[in-house]
Amino acid sequence: MKCHFCGAEDTKVIDSRPTEDGTSIRRRRECIECKKRFTTYEKYEENNTMVIKKDGTRELFNPSKVLSGMVKSCEKRPVSMDILEDAVSRIERKIMTMGVREIPSRMIGECIMDELKQIDQVAYVRFASVYREFTDLDSFYEAINKLKNDNQK
Ligand SMILES: [Zn+2]
Repeated sequence: MKCHFCGAEDTKVIDSRPTEDGTSIRRRRECIECKKRFTTYEKYEENNTMVIKKDGTRELFNPSKVLSGMVKSCEKRPVSMDILEDAVSRIERKIMTMGVREIPSRMIGECIMDELKQIDQVAYVRFASVYREFTDLDSFYEAINKLKNDNQK
């Protein structure tokens, strides 16, 4: 995001929170160069993709649901909202570039796991254990081992 005052390329986000109606994000930014501060409102990109749920019903893709799932997994972890919001944007873009009208909820879950794996491994395991509904210890260990192997690559 360019600085509104001096046009510098680099600004850092000091604070960000969803607006009351939940359709955009309010970001407080500070320019790295001139140190001036300004506020931006970024609308969630329009995304009309329908999500096919496990029971076969459909609902409109909802980025704030993705975010709240990730926030929950990152409870008491050193992960900032900025990082999670960026991850949600990446997931949104990924889904949009698929160019499909409907997507199984399973695929969104996989996208979230891909992101969490990079962000925080404890959060990843938490999310995976709920999402994949580990029914026994073996499948749980399997996931942990897979994580370990991925790290060694
Ligand atoms: Zn500036």
